[in-house]
Amino acid sequence: MDGKINQLDVLIMKAAVYLGKEQLIVQDVDKPALDEGEVLLQIHACSVCGTDLRTYRHGDKKIIPPRILGHEFCATVVESRAPDANVQIGDRVVMYIVIVSERDRYVEMGRENLTAHRTTMSYHHDGAFAPFMKVPAIAVKQGNLFKVTSDINNEHMSLAEPLGCCMNAHSRLGIGLKDTVAVIGAGPIGMMHAALARLQGAQKVIVLDNNPARLEMAKRFDIDAALLVQADGSHREQVRDLTDGYGTDVTIVAVSAAPAQNDALEIAAKAGRVNFFAGLPKSNPIAPLDVNHIHYKELVISGSYSEKKSDFQAAFALLHSGRFPAEKFITHTLPLERINEAFPLMESGAALKVCILPGT
Ligand SMILES: [Zn+2]
Repeated sequence: MDGKINQLDVLIMKAAVYLGKEQLIVQDVDKPALDEGEVLLQIHACSVCGTDLRTYRHGDKKIIPPRILGHEFCATVVESRAPDANVQIGDRVVMYIVIVSERDRYVEMGRENLTAHRTTMSYHHDGAFAPFMKVPAIAVKQGNLFKVTSDINNEHMSLAEPLGCCMNAHSRLGIGLKDTVAVIGAGPIGMMHAALARLQGAQKVIVLDNNPARLEMAKRFDIDAALLVQADGSHREQVRDLTDGYGTDVTIVAVSAAPAQNDALEIAAKAGRVNFFAGLPKSNPIAPLDVNHIHYKELVISGSYSEKKSDFQAAFALLHSGRFPAEKFITHTLPLERINEAFPLMESGAALKVCILPGT
């Protein structure tokens, strides 16, 4: 042997534990011990979500500290007390993180994301900013683990969870060859929407943001225009110019800001579809919107929250196909000890997606 301690035998591990606002501390915790029906994962890669950042900065009522965050991961099953599970020791996996605790009509409809009877990894159960994470028995039983069978790398596969959330919106937008699409917000989620729109054959994909650094990053993608959101509203004119004066058939708001929601209603074409992918802060959810756009333009507005299992499956399959430009998303990788560096990188727009490698 090379003298290294076999990582699997350790009893204590370093994990990024959320202890309260602005406190994400890498500290020693017990390696999880398994109960009947549970599975232990060795985490290879876990990307930092915008919600991890939001929790770090503002807290989240659903998360009671101490809690290990991180829910966008790719891992290998290293221990199992679930012999009948759909995955076995040695399998590389990703996870649908919504765990249904009681069936109701939303679950029966296949809309698990909407049930009140759900728990979520990294919110109610410890997450994957750690070398090991255990999967609750109920999640194993529900088939929430998906076996990765291609050689796609761990960082790219960690995108399955956020991409599934985007798929949820697209499952109602029905983008196709006739559509021009605008995405407001050029962060990782916005660029996922833009990439999905392109893959679905949209005629034109326009991305808007008020951060020039993000727009520079956006230009690396296959899009038709990257527009700076201006205080004088001239970006709205630019959208009209790019769409023969009509506005966009599909408009997706991927930034948590009321002015962006208003812009979406403004730039939408008549009979357009608008998706409010991002919500507003829970402390201030009331926004002045010109709702006459909805009336006179006969807009169809949809929301989007979390993801259905079918969305996760679709994202998983798309990543497997190699058709999704996953390599453009992970701009930074960091060892777990440096996880706090991820937040300013994300906020400044210097990074698109930061992926934590707990094994390094
Ligand atoms: Zn996420």
